[in-house]
Amino acid sequence: MKILEKMSLRGKKIFVTGGARGIGKSIASAVAEAGADVAIIDIDIEEALKTADEICKENDVKTMALKADVTNPDDVNNMVEAILAKFGRIDVAFCNAGICMNIPAEEMTYDQWKKVMDVNLNGVFLTAQAAGKVMIKQGGGSIINTASMSAHIVNVPQPQCSYNASKAGVVQLTKSLAVEWALKNVRVNSISPGYIGTELTLNSPSLKPLIEQWNQMAPLKRMGRPDELQAIAVYLAGDTSAFTTGADFVIDGAFTCI
Ligand code: NAD
Repeated sequence: MKILEKMSLRGKKIFVTGGARGIGKSIASAVAEAGADVAIIDIDIEEALKTADEICKENDVKTMALKADVTNPDDVNNMVEAILAKFGRIDVAFCNAGICMNIPAEEMTYDQWKKVMDVNLNGVFLTAQAAGKVMIKQGGGSIINTASMSAHIVNVPQPQCSYNASKAGVVQLTKSLAVEWALKNVRVNSISPGYIGTELTLNSPSLKPLIEQWNQMAPLKRMGRPDELQAIAVYLAGDTSAFTTGADFVIDGAFTCI
């Protein structure tokens, strides 16, 4: 079989948290284009429904949209049950939902700190754990967590200690789960994007004014686009990445090299 045929995701059942827009939407579109049925999970159900509808119309696949808050264990478990009821199995889970707060450490309240850790780290744990239990029973699967280059560097000039710490946690959680579940045939990897043009960056009042400065610093002198993360997502979701587990893929246009 040729490599592109081997990379097909036809028949796979995939969900993406934070899938309504941005990086999650781009990943969901890519895996659907590669043949997978896809569930869009988000707290913003209206946007999730629109995205699921759009992807369904553009591809010959099944889609569904579900409202779930990844910080709520009941929501996460109900979401998994609903996907199993419609799709029958879960082959791939993208734990992608995340938020950012730019607040100086000395001014950050404990609630603000906890909110970021809750969505970015606890949410990834809850989602990966729920998907992992299903995959272990099924005999295998692939989990892909969205970390960030902020797991590896301290971004400047914005103060974002909770975000950086949460994303470093995602990378180490990914490696831990990969080792624990290796012999259960459940692979766990992370993607660490650099600055990508999405709502989170382009329309954030605190981040938008910094874009020019980031671009000056960046070796490629620009931000990335969500579609520039699609190929790695399709690769990690599919069977050609069978020997790839416990890895973190930094896709940042060499930003972390400087
Ligand atoms: P985005 O804000 O455009 O989209 C995030 C989506 O997640 C939204 O649809 C939102 O409704 C959803 N969401 C937020 N909290 C949720 C929750 N508790 N439960 C379920 N859904 C929730 O952001 P994005 O730029 O697409 O970021 C996606 C992921 O990529 C995040 O984990 C982010 O930290 C990471 N990331 C983004 C960049 C970037 O520059 N944009 C860089 C590195 C990493």
